Amino acid sequence: FELFEQGEIEFRHVSFRYPDAEEAILTDINFTVHRGETVAFIGSTGSGKSTLINLVPRFYDVTEGEICIDGINIKEYTQEALHRKLGYVSQRAVMFRGSVLSNVTYGENGRQSVDEELLWKSIEIAQADDFVQDMENGYHTAVAQGGTNLSGGQKQRLAIARAIYCRPEIYIFDDSFSALDYKTDRVLRKMLKQETGTATTLIVAQRIGTIMDADKIIVLDEGKIVGIGRHKEL
Ligand code: ATP
Repeated sequence: FELFEQGEIEFRHVSFRYPDAEEAILTDINFTVHRGETVAFIGSTGSGKSTLINLVPRFYDVTEGEICIDGINIKEYTQEALHRKLGYVSQRAVMFRGSVLSNVTYGENGRQSVDEELLWKSIEIAQADDFVQDMENGYHTAVAQGGTNLSGGQKQRLAIARAIYCRPEIYIFDDSFSALDYKTDRVLRKMLKQETGTATTLIVAQRIGTIMDADKIIVLDEGKIVGIGRHKEL
């Protein structure tokens, strides 16, 4: 059947325990994110933010409760189908051996050939254009396995460009702007919002700017939601 088109995400009484672990990391998590909304997850280190957003691409399955996208339990989707619709950027941007360009088009969202226009747009939004132009071989510069010849912020921008290139209905950013300077961070998020206004975005954030721009903030403490609201309400 058709994969989701809206990108509305609902957590219903979700609890989660890592396999082989004794204690639950998340307990009775309930919230809904509507199409086009941006939600920022905040909370102290170890409160379960990454664990929570990692359940959406089904890196792990919930222990109790359910996660629905457009009303359908995500267990109904294969991981492969799900990943094609989700733009996920992890805490440590993953880089593959190849060129700068192949690192952005990696996965290709099932496309057979490179969509040049979308590719350049994705790179522009991700603020990756300037530093790539400055590299010795531009977009054909070789990237080592793990991206050891790139800085943390460069890797984050390429990983973000890769997610944008997939044109997902849902973006998931796990602290993926942390290595960017404040200005780049702000410009990137503004352009992304302009270009992908209808995409739903989940973002683990530390910075006040990201939090203030979110439509909704979810505060986690020891695996429980202790606050939901807008910046001025919390
Ligand atoms: P941070 O802000 O430091 O990234 P976080 O709020 O994202 O923290 P998580 O990374 O979700 O928190 O971690 C929550 C808890 O789950 C921690 O106690 C951590 O040790 C545990 N945890 C994380 N990953 C695993 C795993 N793969 N297996 C077992 N326990 C894990």
